[in-house]
Amino acid sequence: MSKFWSRTAREAKPYIPGEQPNESQIIKLNTNENPYPPSPNTLEAMKEVVNEGLRKYPTPTVDSLKRVIANREGVNSEQVFVGNGSDEVLAFAFQAFFEANEAIKFPSVTYSFYPVYANLYGIPYQAVTLNDDFTIDVEAMKQSIGGVIFPNPNAPTGLALRLYQVEEILQGNPNNVVIVDEAYVEFGAESAVELVEQYPNLLVTKTLSKSHALAGIRVGYAIGQEDLIEGLERIKNSFNSYTINSVSLAGAETALSDDAYYRETLERVINTRVWFKQSLEELGFEVLDSKANFLFVKPTGVEAEWLYLTLKERGFYIRYFDKPEVRGYVRISIGTDEEMERLLNEISNLLNSDC
Ligand code: PMP
Repeated sequence: MSKFWSRTAREAKPYIPGEQPNESQIIKLNTNENPYPPSPNTLEAMKEVVNEGLRKYPTPTVDSLKRVIANREGVNSEQVFVGNGSDEVLAFAFQAFFEANEAIKFPSVTYSFYPVYANLYGIPYQAVTLNDDFTIDVEAMKQSIGGVIFPNPNAPTGLALRLYQVEEILQGNPNNVVIVDEAYVEFGAESAVELVEQYPNLLVTKTLSKSHALAGIRVGYAIGQEDLIEGLERIKNSFNSYTINSVSLAGAETALSDDAYYRETLERVINTRVWFKQSLEELGFEVLDSKANFLFVKPTGVEAEWLYLTLKERGFYIRYFDKPEVRGYVRISIGTDEEMERLLNEISNLLNSDC
């Protein structure tokens, strides 16, 4: 703790991201990245910018990317906001729509960045306990004082709310903003974007990090009515007049236009999730019904924490959360078929050995 730090810096409780090991032999299934590379066209577009376009500033308003996103999402460009990953979009949204004296609600088991932002901006919050089956308590989320945020599908459970349930939450909060964080929606949940026209209090956030295999370029976006998007632009422009860097801009535009490649990799991840879930169940593990690119798993016969630590020693990184509500569980990202086969072998061996 430095004497030079402001109160904000002193009191900040930063988010601790999943481990990012460098060794290439490691099978990394701990931060929900896409196991496949970005599309070849995307890589080409980014290389071209590296070769030709780095001397100049990028277009601050990213109009062309907004048009691509608008076209894809069936909205107009004024209903699109772009940021450096959806983390940044969410950070701006907390500042733009939540107040210091009005408690917001989010699920008690959810993306750990929400309490971090709330603490940073002095926004009080109520963590709403999940139902016994780990689903989000829709009744409790229906009314808030200051706003609501939840991922759909939720992380780390992977469970998704149906669209009518999202709508109930929106209807219960007519005077507050409801943020639906759709970081994983493409892997099987229903997107709330189609509700944007009808609900002025809805903001949907998405990312290219998972579905488009572009976690490294940090591009996320939000869809909402013009009024909400303008609020986000005001906050963003108070920090930085440039939205994203030129390389990310070119990569994002190309990736979002490269639909065939995107669909193919998405399907591969979903197919792998289906067989891997079934294989874990055959080992006697409990696995929640994931609509995301990861599985939330309760091992039987071994402790979750032991499994996490032992797999790590053997070069497999998965995620363990040291929180009372989910202590018996681990989260496993979906990798390639080969990676998942190797993990399954390793788990079977561990279960069969006398350790
Ligand atoms: N929301 C959720 C629920 C997430 O799990 C993540 C990624 N860890 C994000 C948002 C942020 O993703 P990104 O900043 O890469 O867009």
